[in-house]
Amino acid sequence: MTRLVLLGPPGAGKGTQAKLLSDRLGVPAISTGDIFRANVAEGTELGRTVQEYLNAGKYVPDAVTNQMVRERLAQPDAAEGFILDGYPRTTDQVRELDDMLADVGAKLEHVLEIAADTDELVRRLAKRAVEQGRSDDTEEVIRTRQQVYAEQTAPLVEVYSDRGLLRSVDGLGDIPEVTSRLVSALGLQTA
Ligand code: ADP
Repeated sequence: MTRLVLLGPPGAGKGTQAKLLSDRLGVPAISTGDIFRANVAEGTELGRTVQEYLNAGKYVPDAVTNQMVRERLAQPDAAEGFILDGYPRTTDQVRELDDMLADVGAKLEHVLEIAADTDELVRRLAKRAVEQGRSDDTEEVIRTRQQVYAEQTAPLVEVYSDRGLLRSVDGLGDIPEVTSRLVSALGLQTA
């Protein structure tokens, strides 16, 4: 049973590490960004609501995001634990997540921060833009996303640190290296 949140700036590698940890821990990786992008691609009502925010690199309004996560966490596969990638991102979302978990008598066990230097992140995102063609990986939008992270999400590091839940790992290095740092931060054996 693992209830885990991954924190870190855009480009830090949360999505990649969330999937690897998901295999390792046997709990689903839930990425709000992936869910939003899938809805945009499918042209659902949610997709139409969130598209302009995604393209601008701005956060989707909390009410929309919170509702979406509440529904996702109510799915049976999340009952035994989860890895949240990209949520919570605001202090309002932190409170909402607390409420969602309290409703089912659960609580968060770990918050892992993947830390990385801004210049390296901008380089990675520019590379991903070429590889994946994401609409929010243009240079201007990348800058906006970094700024929004610094203003709205970076303060969560302190919030979770005050609760004694936070561990921070260095996000520089190759993918398996970062995975082993995360695994040891969770107190598991690196194999
Ligand atoms: P990255 O980590 O590279 O910024 P994500 O895939 O996690 O990318 O998120 C992409 C976009 O999806 C964000 O810029 C934002 O518009 C939206 N989004 C994802 N998660 C949230 C959230 N928790 N609250 C508000 N908006 C979100």
